[in-house]
Amino acid sequence: MIVLSGGTGTPKLLNGLRRVIPEEDITVVVNTAEDLWVSGNLVTPDIDTVLYLFSNRIDAVKWWGVEGDTFRTHKTMKSSGFDEYMMIGDLDRATHIMRSEFIRGGDSLTVATQKLARAFGVKSNVLPMSDDPVSTIITTSFGKMHFQDFWVKEHGEPDVLDVSIKGISDVLISPAVLDALKHEDEVLIGPSNPITSIGPILAMSGMRSILKNKKVIAVSPIIGTEPVSGPAGKLMHARGFEVSSHGVAKCYEDVVDVFVIDERDSANESDFWDICCDVLRTDTLMKTVDVSVKLAGRMIEIFETVI
Ligand code: GDP
Repeated sequence: MIVLSGGTGTPKLLNGLRRVIPEEDITVVVNTAEDLWVSGNLVTPDIDTVLYLFSNRIDAVKWWGVEGDTFRTHKTMKSSGFDEYMMIGDLDRATHIMRSEFIRGGDSLTVATQKLARAFGVKSNVLPMSDDPVSTIITTSFGKMHFQDFWVKEHGEPDVLDVSIKGISDVLISPAVLDALKHEDEVLIGPSNPITSIGPILAMSGMRSILKNKKVIAVSPIIGTEPVSGPAGKLMHARGFEVSSHGVAKCYEDVVDVFVIDERDSANESDFWDICCDVLRTDTLMKTVDVSVKLAGRMIEIFETVI
């Protein structure tokens, strides 16, 4: 199975999926549009979270960084007057240093990720969506800024006027992702931000037409009119989508076969009449690993019986 992922909602589902099917059978295509160079190293927040999840080191309270990490390097730099606004843990930084050295030595992001995955004992196939750099830019009332500046430095507070993905028209789907898509029929779009996590993956040239010929399930990251966490609501609104599960389904309308909404969602199946997909309802609020496991099991069932 191929899973399209950002760095919070979908990793929670992956945490269930890895308990339901062998990790070797999971290929994760990960958003790279939030990547950026920080203090000399390439930080890939979504890839890092997925790698830490599969190597049992994720901080599953914050859903970023390594559990129990310390911040001595970061604090030392800050107290020396170096402006590092992202909280980067010492062990997390070790990952960034290794990745950056691989890349400086000529490796693609895919190869660098594979080397890290092997070193960390990750059995799943973790693939950056592309080897080409791409950045999510948020246009706010204070001007344009990188997604990380908006979300980490400005705490997601500025009004959002627009969201764009710089460089996306030149970005190629990585050869490893294309190869995976050639051999796999089942694609799961996890409950991730449809604008800044799944949006860039779908925006790569050719991706939507490939997915149209696959069996695609998508899980809504919005329950009712609110995201479970993060800025998805603000960003969807800025892109002209209703902040609702229906709005998320609209983002995927040309590729999705089955759309999964939460059992608490006030939307009715009939609200999705304009989107050509089945709508199923279940518990998607993954507060515990048990819920993640059940949801993952339901996804397998849907692939086997519905599509
Ligand atoms: P990011 O890369 O950190 O922005 O993370 P993602 O895009 O992968 O995930 C963020 C999205 O996940 C948000 O829109 C949340 O609403 C959604 N999300 C987080 N936890 C859950 C959950 O337990 N259930 C569902 N349905 N959505 C979730």
